Amino acid sequence: MTAQQSSELTSVTLPDAITVKGLSERLGISPVEVIKRLMTHGVMAAMNDTIDYETAALVSSELGIAPSPEAAPQAVAAVIRSDEEQSEDGDPRPPIVAILGHVDHGKTSLLDSIRETNVVAGEAGGITQHIGAYQIERGGKPITFIDTPGHAAFTAMRARGAQITDVAIVVVAADDGVMPQTIEAINHVRAAEVPMIIAINKSDLPAANPDRVKQQLTEQSVVVEDYGGDVLAVPVSATTGAGLDDLLESIDLVAEIQELKASTDSLATGTVVEAELDSRRGPVATVLIANGTLRQGDALVSGLISGKVKAMFDERGDRLSEAGPSRPVRIMGLEDVPAAGDAIEVIESERSARRIVEEARREAESSTGVRHGGLTLETLFNEVGAGNVKELLLILKTDVRGTAEAIRGSLQGLGTGEVKIKVIHTATGSVSESDVMLADASGAIILAFNVRTEPSAASQAETNGVEIRTYDVIYQLIESVDQALEGLYEPIYERIVDGVAEVRQLFRSSRVGQIAGCYVTEGTLLRGDGTRVLRDGQEVADTNCAGLRRFQDDVREVQQGFECGVVLEQFDNFQEGDLLEFYHQKRVN
Ligand code: GDP
Repeated sequence: MTAQQSSELTSVTLPDAITVKGLSERLGISPVEVIKRLMTHGVMAAMNDTIDYETAALVSSELGIAPSPEAAPQAVAAVIRSDEEQSEDGDPRPPIVAILGHVDHGKTSLLDSIRETNVVAGEAGGITQHIGAYQIERGGKPITFIDTPGHAAFTAMRARGAQITDVAIVVVAADDGVMPQTIEAINHVRAAEVPMIIAINKSDLPAANPDRVKQQLTEQSVVVEDYGGDVLAVPVSATTGAGLDDLLESIDLVAEIQELKASTDSLATGTVVEAELDSRRGPVATVLIANGTLRQGDALVSGLISGKVKAMFDERGDRLSEAGPSRPVRIMGLEDVPAAGDAIEVIESERSARRIVEEARREAESSTGVRHGGLTLETLFNEVGAGNVKELLLILKTDVRGTAEAIRGSLQGLGTGEVKIKVIHTATGSVSESDVMLADASGAIILAFNVRTEPSAASQAETNGVEIRTYDVIYQLIESVDQALEGLYEPIYERIVDGVAEVRQLFRSSRVGQIAGCYVTEGTLLRGDGTRVLRDGQEVADTNCAGLRRFQDDVREVQQGFECGVVLEQFDNFQEGDLLEFYHQKRVN
């Protein structure tokens, strides 16, 4: 199916599951276009991610192309299909590996020593540049490592829709054991549903205690092979190099089970892992090829940026004329600097690439601030009703561990037939950027109990539409989630009194009606406030302040000890001696 057919296409059959790329081909539009449309529905999917029939059908209907489910294949069709699948599946490709773990447990050291000791056979000089990713060879088989340690990079990419890691290595220092960021890393990897290998590092140290590490991991439900589980754990030392080959072998093993495949003959798609503006060479981006082969001279689109591969280099700085799947390459020739996690896609011609970008820019300008993600407790019920949400993912931050366990226990019991509750990460301490990134990447809501939100995390949450709910009473937290599940959720507001004034004189204006001449006895009156009128301790009205005056001037606020004129919305019945309570609402659940 080609792009030319798109204009005549009125109907399409779709399978139960299809990749974004596959869908774009059936609909005759670019994968970038499909990704953008999915984003407007809160679905973050990369080129090679699979989406279900309902989601694919939604995109198709939007384009005016009527979707219908693909019929179960007949015997002959099955043969043809399996042939097609063969070619679609493509050739085996190297695994892409990320290294995560607690600070100082040796992520960087491991990446460095793997890099140094496993140079591609026959290459002199080794890998000299840090370009965000590198490839080594073990027994003739290449393995690609993402050379930015830590889960920030890992999750930031996921948050942008790029799921590029095939195997995650969680490093635990044998002398230090499982630490908070180890748990965080484990939860990030789990949320990404990426297979995990544990590297028990610093095994050379006398204080190394691998058994304790394995035990601590079991407490986190990561059960290693020795303990009867299926997670591979490999003792290593980044310093002496001991165990590194075993680690690489484990990667090979885990990767083999996944049967990673990609086509080498299609136009390339990939993900930017690092990019910057080089003063001499212009924008330079390190790209990991996901599918197809990238060639010098190819026209490219990455988000709102187009370009052409003017030159390509590997991690040794050697020039390449082409690069296949899982290969990290440094490319020159983009017209601007893309962001890490952005997808890139080769387009048939430079002209089409420019046209796609122009269209995408126009659309970006016209869609005013549509955010992706953004599941909230208030919208949960509707999303469940619409079949968009089957699992409520939660991140729980609390002041002490005991509370976390209590809350977690109560929450697990709340799931309904339609929606399951899954707490994907629990930790003590304030809500951090890393939490927000995890929430953004997985579509989770953050529940903060008795902890604050770091300002940077708050602004990031705001930008990305991630909901952070703060509580200081456990039952309120549980109740909000419960009510959200039942569709009964209504936010509770608390009244915060800003100021109180006493009515001392009455005026009448032909234009605004009755004006109360007041004296502010407490706090500050604010023009936008809600106002309660109290007479002999009884509320006679609850309305809003419509105007505040000092002499002839309209003012925004009046402080304690000053006189002023007050006009209220839809209230014309002041009496001398009335008390006016000015307040604002604060959301408390
Ligand atoms: P990262 O923060 O996880 O990237 O950790 P680094 O790679 O920066 O390592 C932290 C410290 O641990 C450094 O001083 C390293 O030299 C040391 N280190 C890392 N790996 C090993 C190891 O296998 N054995 C020993 N003895 N020290 C190590």
